[in-house]
Amino acid sequence: MSRRPRHDAVVVGGGVVGAACALALAREGLDVALVERQRPAAWSADAPDLRVYALAADGIALLDRLGVWAEVRAARVQPYRRMQVRDAGGGGELRFDADAYGREALGWIVEQALLTDRLWAALPAAGVALRCPAGVEALEASDDAVALRLDDGGRVAARVAIAADGAESTLRRLAGIGITRQAYGQRGVVAYVGTERPHEASARQRFLVGGPLAFLPCADGSSSIVWSLPDEEAERVLGLDDAAFGQALTRAFDGWLGEARPLSRRAAFPLRRQLADRLLAGRVLVLGDAAHVVHPLAGQGVNLGLRDVAGLAEAVAGSKRRGADWTRPHALARWARRRRSENAVAAWTFDGIQRVYASDDPLLTLARGPALGLAGRLPPLAQALWRRASGLAP
Ligand SMILES: Cc1cc2nc3c(=O)[nH]c(=O)nc-3n(C[C@H](O)[C@H](O)[C@H](O)COP(=O)(O)OP(=O)(O)OC[C@H]3O[C@@H](n4cnc5c(N)ncnc54)[C@H](O)[C@@H]3O)c2cc1C
Repeated sequence: MSRRPRHDAVVVGGGVVGAACALALAREGLDVALVERQRPAAWSADAPDLRVYALAADGIALLDRLGVWAEVRAARVQPYRRMQVRDAGGGGELRFDADAYGREALGWIVEQALLTDRLWAALPAAGVALRCPAGVEALEASDDAVALRLDDGGRVAARVAIAADGAESTLRRLAGIGITRQAYGQRGVVAYVGTERPHEASARQRFLVGGPLAFLPCADGSSSIVWSLPDEEAERVLGLDDAAFGQALTRAFDGWLGEARPLSRRAAFPLRRQLADRLLAGRVLVLGDAAHVVHPLAGQGVNLGLRDVAGLAEAVAGSKRRGADWTRPHALARWARRRRSENAVAAWTFDGIQRVYASDDPLLTLARGPALGLAGRLPPLAQALWRRASGLAP
């Protein structure tokens, strides 16, 4: 690979995390290319995307620095001012309130299609070179550069390649990075539903033996549900007619918001814990779902990915301030170490919570109810939990 690399960085995968990464690195003054197999569909206000994220404060801060949050916010978002967690086994309620922290909101509910739409709209002006539609097929690496062969017959070379191509990442595999994966045997069923009582800007979650059921508040008064269910149960629920689905949902949520009725089609995605063995191999970095897939019970998947991006942008800015080369191995290794450690802690924590709450062991059921209430009554613990979930904890 004697040719001089054309780009500083090539990002593979233009989902929320990859597009945010390309934009963040371009804003740091790097020459960036983005390779994406399929251009994301344009967002339409009349067709709400079923994939909805609860973005934490630090994710919003990143989008704001990238100059896209104002546009996303103006289009359609819903702040959630409260978070309430209950256990079907009884016990208390874990509750966080934005007022207690002097904040406008604990986080914001945003559709994935809206995020990608606004991120992609900002890419050309930031100088990001788009290679789309194009998929990565092969990787050649040398000491100072990487080159990717694309399935459109083209090639793209850069000093660093970044795998943001999702859970089944091709670039991660080409770089020889393995994964550990644990399938939960569960799927997350998602849909929009209407409820008898108003959501009052509160994100609610109820833990059941089969998995947690979350109702996230939406701007039009509806709720976006994520219902984690064992595979066969998810299959059954997907096949119910609307009336039966509404009844099952109302029962599973214990009528918390009164009767629930479906307003959209339903979809489901497989739930797993998956971690890349490392986040750096030579000049290939891995982030977003390519690096980690976690249980959706804490809504952290995309938030962790945005933290990977913020950390990388910070590392680049730090190197530049010191007049150092941002691609030097120990700088990239420091980023990779920090992010792998936070991602692993998150993945295992959510895994543990999932196991405790999925158990119908009477002792665990007895223990977890009061634990929720206790956490809710103890301000320092509640504050620590919330600060971590909202990305304000170190
Ligand atoms: C069906 C489904 C529903 C979900 N719903 C929710 C939800 O409601 N709430 C929630 O919090 N999380 C949800 N998740 C998880 C969430 O979508 C992920 O955490 C998040 O999308 C990760 O973003 P990402 O940018 O890292 O990866 P992705 O969103 O997976 O983006 C990867 C991108 O890479 C591209 N790509 C892949 N391979 C190549 C290649 N070889 N060359 C070029 N480009 C490539 C893909 O086209 C894609 O655009 C859902 C996941 C799925 C699969």
